Amino acid sequence: MYDIIIIGAGPAGLTAAIYAGRAGLNALVIDKAQSGGTVNVAPLIENYPGVDKITGIELMKLITEQARQYAEIKEHTMVLDIHDNGDSTFSVDTGEEVLKSKFVILATGTQYRKLEIDDSDEDSDDYIGRGLSYCAVCDGTFFIGREVIIVGGGNSAATEALYLNRVGVKCSIVHRRDSLRCDGKLKEDIKEAGIKVYWNCEVKHINGENSIESVTLYNNKTHEETTIDVNGIFVAIGYVPHNELAKQCGVKCNEQGYVIVDEHMKTNIDGIFAVGDITGGIKQIIVSEAQGAIAVSTIDKDIIV
Ligand code: NAP
Repeated sequence: MYDIIIIGAGPAGLTAAIYAGRAGLNALVIDKAQSGGTVNVAPLIENYPGVDKITGIELMKLITEQARQYAEIKEHTMVLDIHDNGDSTFSVDTGEEVLKSKFVILATGTQYRKLEIDDSDEDSDDYIGRGLSYCAVCDGTFFIGREVIIVGGGNSAATEALYLNRVGVKCSIVHRRDSLRCDGKLKEDIKEAGIKVYWNCEVKHINGENSIESVTLYNNKTHEETTIDVNGIFVAIGYVPHNELAKQCGVKCNEQGYVIVDEHMKTNIDGIFAVGDITGGIKQIIVSEAQGAIAVSTIDKDIIV
């Protein structure tokens, strides 16, 4: 019997594990993939207090190592079901074993939003492995010296564009509005780096037989179409919540699919908490970490009382 089973090993889940261990609680973290979550693919983090510049993978390696001192972490393990046993315990089913805990923390995060191509029944994901990628850090070096576009206008698109530019990929941004929504500093860096932005443009077609050869852009202001030669497309248009488990066990989500929590990170189900990006709001590493700390501090008090 664990005190807490934490599902998801991103910044929120791992911080919860650190706080649990330090409070003397017996915690287990389960993640369907490698520990670290979506931060693993962040090219560069420059706003994490105390660390000037660090790559996402390096930061998450440090946090994972620290969390391992306080909790067991099971990677590459999928949670299939969470069952409320009705006696203030939960059964967490991974298909291979059923684990019991007094509390569950959902830290399941988000997944990439897929690029829907306008006016066509093309599936952009058919081009994965043929030039389309959701991860500049993973695939950027394949495109050194070649032309790519990054689709999106937020912090991810901006940091990925700057990363690709830095490693020698010829990149332009394609954004559906006339201004980027990323942080001001990133806007300046994009300008300084001379990265071209196709404003008010949407990807209408991806062209190419075996691999991407060009994209057709639709300008939603002028209604003109332009085809530009590119070898790759990096998609950075945000994320959608990973809420399947939450919904399955009756945890309430809002209209956008994010789990509804109170200020203690409690969900509508007694004993189930949610932390990090799965709760929506401001998606920053430091916010997720704070939520992990809040949930466990609340549990700690609930157990002691
Ligand atoms: P985001 O902030 O939600 O931005 C997504 C961008 O993609 C927006 O510009 C959006 O356009 C565009 N978009 C959405 N759907 C689209 C579609 N179907 N077709 C074309 N464009 C589409 O997502 P994000 O940049 O991945 O960031 C996610 C969260 O992580 C944010 O809270 C962000 O602040 C955080 N983050 C922070 C950092 C950091 O260093 N601080 C780095 C990365 C991410 P509109 O502008 O028109 O909506």
